[in-house]
Amino acid sequence: MTLATTLDNYTVWFVTGSQNLYGEDTLRQVAEQSQAVVAGLTGLPVRVEWKPVLKDADSIRRLALEANADDSVIGVMAWMHTFSPAKMWITGLDALRKPLLHLHTQANVELPWADIDFDFMNLNQAAHGDREFGYIQTRLGVARKTVVGHVSNPVVRHQIEDWQRAAAGWQAVRTLKLARFGDNMRYVAVTEGDKTEAELQFGVQVNTWGVNELADAVAAASDADVDALVEIYVAQYDVADELLPGGERHQSLRDGAAIEIGLRSFLEAGGFGAFTTSFEDLGALKQLPGLAVQRLMAEGYGFGAEGDWKTAILVRVANVMGVGLPGGASLMEDYTYDLVPGSERILGAHMLEVSPSLTTAKPRLEIHPLGIGGKDDPVRLVFTADPGPALVVALSDMRDRFRLTANVVENVEAPDLPKLPVGRAIWKPAPDFATSAACWLAAGAAHHTVMTTAVGIEVFRDFAEIAGTELVVIDDDTTVRGFQKELRWNQAYYRLARGL
Ligand code: MN
Repeated sequence: MTLATTLDNYTVWFVTGSQNLYGEDTLRQVAEQSQAVVAGLTGLPVRVEWKPVLKDADSIRRLALEANADDSVIGVMAWMHTFSPAKMWITGLDALRKPLLHLHTQANVELPWADIDFDFMNLNQAAHGDREFGYIQTRLGVARKTVVGHVSNPVVRHQIEDWQRAAAGWQAVRTLKLARFGDNMRYVAVTEGDKTEAELQFGVQVNTWGVNELADAVAAASDADVDALVEIYVAQYDVADELLPGGERHQSLRDGAAIEIGLRSFLEAGGFGAFTTSFEDLGALKQLPGLAVQRLMAEGYGFGAEGDWKTAILVRVANVMGVGLPGGASLMEDYTYDLVPGSERILGAHMLEVSPSLTTAKPRLEIHPLGIGGKDDPVRLVFTADPGPALVVALSDMRDRFRLTANVVENVEAPDLPKLPVGRAIWKPAPDFATSAACWLAAGAAHHTVMTTAVGIEVFRDFAEIAGTELVVIDDDTTVRGFQKELRWNQAYYRLARGL
């Protein structure tokens, strides 16, 4: 089964709350106007489906149960056009297990001042109907996103789009199967974590396979399939002469192609959407998988190196959330700093495994020695991430919970790096290098991250809200003192919240 990285099969339900008090004529207008609101939700990545107006507790509860049961429904949007007494919503909201967006909107933009009468007032009363709805959501502790404004406002639609993308990421992680080849890198702490808790919290199934099962799949790659894949490499990349057919190291490219074929067949056969490798446990593989991993990430797979399954989850989630947007998502690692005062930059890379979705340029396909792993020289794509806005996000296991830490960054132009033949990115972190690094360290965030150039921090905020997971953000508003306080408060909050 080929991995689906698309939002086309998803839908979001739009529900309008009312009550039977108003009579048929008003309820007919409520239905028509809520359909017009849905029709105004143009340009969204996920289809919005209008549902009949809800007027009593039983139909609200039934709708929640139907939404829960339908895998194509990734979220529910709700609007109280009229007054919908919120005790009707208690059992339904309590039953709802899908992400919720409260759209606080109105059918009209301007008020018809000269004509306004009490019929109009009774029909167009989200101003207090939605307050009643907000009360019950807050009283029940319902996680949701609230979006305020008329749907003709592009800002409103953009906020809805962000939430839709987060809901799609949530749906993807709820159904994600992750294959680990080998264990975590020996002695490393931050890539460890509670896989059982992760399945409860996020839904992802994290399990391990012996690397020689992968090596068997690689050995099964046919010459014809390798030939065909080499042709694709030659067409897509600027391939080093020594790797081309007839070149003196062409066999290494064929070995790399066989790894991609075997890895892909293993992942497809098991229905996996993410995976990890370990350079300490390569079994009969000839090379550390580099090119193959880079290409699979660019197709939408999640990946973490050195057994880092937590970052692999984030790469998959970011790939799904970014569907259709320019840019991409990749494993990234904070490697080294340029500390020239006033222009500090972070150079990020990995031994091999950075996704070419971070560049619009044609990557170069090269082969170079790798100092660790004790295997043949690996083939890899060489490029620099495009300049522009980006985000790095790490997932840490804090023992009693998971913590997401995000830093808003700006990828910048790279100087020539003739002796660094890997995929890499160079960025300036917000608000400044020293604040960013001090806060990152205070949060206990990892050296491995997902870097996304496709989605911004708002999508991750929505994702964290849906997932009920702590997210601390380092951006232009961050100070070290304020951030430290937030960490302390969060420490107390997340422990207390378990009992709430
Ligand atoms: Mn690493």
